[in-house]
Amino acid sequence: MLTDSVGRRITYLRVSVTDRCNLRCVYCLPACGVRWLPREEILRFEEICEVVRVGVSLGITRVRLTGGEPLVREGLVDLVKRLSGLPGLDDLALSTNGVLLSREARALARAGLRRVNISLDTLQPERFRQITRFGTMADVAAGIEAALAAGLHPVKLNVVVMRGVNDDEIVELGRLAFDRPLHVRFIELMPIGEYFSRDKLVPAEEIFTRLEALGPLRPASGVAGCGPARTYTWEGAQGTIGIIGAVTQAFCAQCNRLRLTATGKLRPCLDDTAAVDLVPALRPAVNHERLATLFRKAVAGKPEQHTMAQREYGTPRFCMAGVGG
Ligand code: SAM
Repeated sequence: MLTDSVGRRITYLRVSVTDRCNLRCVYCLPACGVRWLPREEILRFEEICEVVRVGVSLGITRVRLTGGEPLVREGLVDLVKRLSGLPGLDDLALSTNGVLLSREARALARAGLRRVNISLDTLQPERFRQITRFGTMADVAAGIEAALAAGLHPVKLNVVVMRGVNDDEIVELGRLAFDRPLHVRFIELMPIGEYFSRDKLVPAEEIFTRLEALGPLRPASGVAGCGPARTYTWEGAQGTIGIIGAVTQAFCAQCNRLRLTATGKLRPCLDDTAAVDLVPALRPAVNHERLATLFRKAVAGKPEQHTMAQREYGTPRFCMAGVGG
């Protein structure tokens, strides 16, 4: 069992399988000059499996594959197959920008992937290109349809809301959850990197109010893996709305997650660069006992809460509880 210094049980591991991405979203990566890590520094699939195996033996029950863009890593279906067979792992999910999903969704589902989160910040092709710098919206739309058809439910769409960029589409994006069995999650822009400025952050409360233009929202339940999101729906809607107030309504008190970086570092908090290096327990040979010790060390070092709101607003202006990311 992994329990941290304030009694939170750690049951969720986010696994970054690559630092590479086929998009350059404005809030995530610079337009050019990105230097990818050398291949040999990236964990091999066998190594990722060993880390997850040890995590599961310590009480991890849910894993999400992420990146970078996980689908740019060759053989991801194979990794899914290996992980989905691990006894004790109840939930295996994927976060993707959706660009390559249409050709992989069925194979991923057959390999044992349960569900997907797909990033989609706009419904306007030109704006999509501006936000992602490289992407074509039609590819993501095809990816969403393929995920639905492959049964990767609940299919969640992640929208990072930015004032003056896409906040005029909150209602239109929300309407997707009305008309289709989609779960649209609105995420506050987090102060990561140089793109962030306070005026671009649209607080969760404001997002909620704007969505009520479509009718009164009521709390929803029963959607798998909704950890940090406050989830709502409308009468007659096929899907749900999630609002993730990562900055203004942070959820550290409920945070149950660790992150494995592509190079084998275990990070206890999204907002904290502190990390425990697992590589010495993986190379030249895997040492399960040492891996377990390093897991416990990472959990012991998990901060009680992130400091994003303090950094941006001086003191916690809103309810501070935490981020899992
Ligand atoms: N490429 C995959 C994807 O698009 O989901 C996985 C990696 S991506 C970094 C994971 C999620 O983090 C995406 O939904 C993305 O929109 C979100 N994200 C990245 N930077 C963010 C920021 N500064 N604030 C809020 N969300 C952010």
